[in-house]
Amino acid sequence: MHEKNNVELYRRTLEKWGEQAQYDQAIEECAELTTALLHYRRDKTDASTVIDEMADVILMLGQLRWMFGAEEVERALERKRAKLEGLLAQGDDALQGGAE
Ligand SMILES: [Mg+2]
Repeated sequence: MHEKNNVELYRRTLEKWGEQAQYDQAIEECAELTTALLHYRRDKTDASTVIDEMADVILMLGQLRWMFGAEEVERALERKRAKLEGLLAQGDDALQGGAE
């Protein structure tokens, strides 16, 4: 994602509609993606609909990341990646006959 290009967009969006509206919009877009995925799983919609809803959520997550602080979000992402790596390592041990 081209975040540097989006920062100006995020700033203008926040200025025009305000903080509360951004939270509400993020909630709404997440719900729309949830619905699209449920419909996709049941063959009630196509991949392009899911992709469109993903794009909405990605933009809103960019907006929120900018609002809450990109560095703090990056630190949280690093913690989550490390946790996932740990879980994957446990999985590998289990598949290979369990822990030592
Ligand atoms: Mg949407």
